[in-house]
Amino acid sequence: MQLQFLGTGAGMPSKERNTSALALKLLEERGTIWLFDCGEATQHQILHTTIRPRKIEKIFITHLHGDHIFGLPGLLSSRSFLGGEDTLTLYGPKGLKEWVQVSLEISSTHITYPIDFVEVEEGIVFEDDQFIVRAMELEHVIPCYGYRIEQKPLPGELLIDKAKELGVPKGPLLGKLKNGEDVTLENGTVVYSNEVTASPKNGFVVTILGDTRVCENAKRLSSEADIVVHEATFDHSTSEHAANYGHSTNIEAAKTAKEANARFLILNHISARFLPADMKKIVVDAKEVFPQLFIANDYDEFVWKNNQLQQDK
Ligand SMILES: [Zn+2]
Ligand SMILES: [Zn+2]
Repeated sequence: MQLQFLGTGAGMPSKERNTSALALKLLEERGTIWLFDCGEATQHQILHTTIRPRKIEKIFITHLHGDHIFGLPGLLSSRSFLGGEDTLTLYGPKGLKEWVQVSLEISSTHITYPIDFVEVEEGIVFEDDQFIVRAMELEHVIPCYGYRIEQKPLPGELLIDKAKELGVPKGPLLGKLKNGEDVTLENGTVVYSNEVTASPKNGFVVTILGDTRVCENAKRLSSEADIVVHEATFDHSTSEHAANYGHSTNIEAAKTAKEANARFLILNHISARFLPADMKKIVVDAKEVFPQLFIANDYDEFVWKNNQLQQDK
């Protein structure tokens, strides 16, 4: 799994940061990419990456502010031009479906693939045999949701030597055992899957929060998460704006991650008022509260491997 930030700015684009969009790359896990928010020009940002729009399977929208959705009609249209045929599912608050449909209809945009709309409410918004995605409402100036993506436990590895010892021949029986099925050998011996497989491995938990002031639900969604992506629109010197406009500071984000006992924190949604030279202080101050912290810039990619998060450079 990788996380690639396509836009890390707040409110409007700057030369340094485009508006919000984040790709959760699940290419090894399911051959697809999930997008979280789609600010204006997200498709232009994608052109600078290896992401192919037809691989985008789902787009989760946190809230309907322009800096999180104005890139949708263009991206949906290009996905069509680029030969996307698979269904795309769009998750978001009430109003998203109407806005997208009107935008496409009035601009006579013909989409060649089906779009499913899921109106998000608190609770489970998606579940299959690999993943479960939960949403909770945050505290912003309009309805805004955070998402918690949990990968279900992965089957333990097959212990080949053990299987051989028990007389399992090479071939399809090994596959069945690996997938949790018990098998009967030709001589009538039953071999149980749990005898020849290691214990299941925990999957990862990633929490991707939308715009929010400090709130309990941000903490609940982040509880024991491996990775939390949290907005940090403001810093300590501008904290009164954070409270007034439904946003957080770098320190508040760090406190939330700490209180939630999360493992890694990535800050995004950084106001254009901060210059690149200010970033160092923003990071140093927040690290005093929560050391396992990164600040995301556009195009930054983070890799989750062996239970660790690393920035890909
Ligand atoms: Zn925003
Ligand atoms: Zn907002």
